[in-house]
Amino acid sequence: MSKLEVHMFPALSDNYCYLIHDNQAGLTGVIDTPDVPAIERALKETGWTLTHILNTHHHADHAGGNLELKQKTGCTVVGAATDAARIPGIDIKVGDGDVFEFGSHKAQIFDVSGHTIGHIAYWFEDSGVAFVGDALFTLGCGRMFEGTPDQMWTSLQKLMSLPDDTIVYCAHEYTQANAKFALSVEPHNQALIDRAVEIDRLRSQSLPTVPTTIGEEKATNPFLRPSSADLQKTIGLTGAPLVEVFAETRRLKDHF
Ligand code: ZN
Ligand code: FE
Repeated sequence: MSKLEVHMFPALSDNYCYLIHDNQAGLTGVIDTPDVPAIERALKETGWTLTHILNTHHHADHAGGNLELKQKTGCTVVGAATDAARIPGIDIKVGDGDVFEFGSHKAQIFDVSGHTIGHIAYWFEDSGVAFVGDALFTLGCGRMFEGTPDQMWTSLQKLMSLPDDTIVYCAHEYTQANAKFALSVEPHNQALIDRAVEIDRLRSQSLPTVPTTIGEEKATNPFLRPSSADLQKTIGLTGAPLVEVFAETRRLKDHF
């Protein structure tokens, strides 16, 4: 069985979008639909024919192009059952623990609510890749528009349980700002300090800081590190329950 092919491209001002391709089955999916012209250019460039939309959540920069693409291509729209009413054109409704079969590739579905209710992630275990939308970013996590800290922390723990070498494709280039915040709450984390230098180097050349890996995020992303003594001390919550540390970290980022 061949590996799932992934073609990453920028969309809108700071989104990343992904085509996934199963050559044997002749299937091509797009992870979210921020920008129809950008998606059409990527399809032309790869020579692939769109068969599926895999949505992570309902926001316009993720599902806004669903109907136009579905109308133009007749593709099948996959999205969260729990948020079906807000996913335009949804055909296949999936939820936490489900497996979506994309040709010979199986995607395990995780409910990662918090940024929105009914946000899902797709983990292709056989290819070692996860598409996480706005749940987790390089050195950050999505703003909690709809969920509670409990919900979001539960969601992030699901992603933390994936193998460290899992390649994480997130939906935005927010990393440089995330790094500044991360350093402010965990100033003595050497892995983070080193990573921030590397991020500045990449961004100064307009190179992406995505994808990342679960292992790198566990080592440097403050939202996955409420157990860090340095973080707890910096925000004044030494020994507090992890969900409280997470909630305070998220709150501080909102006002950073
Ligand atoms: Zn969003
Ligand atoms: Fe977004």
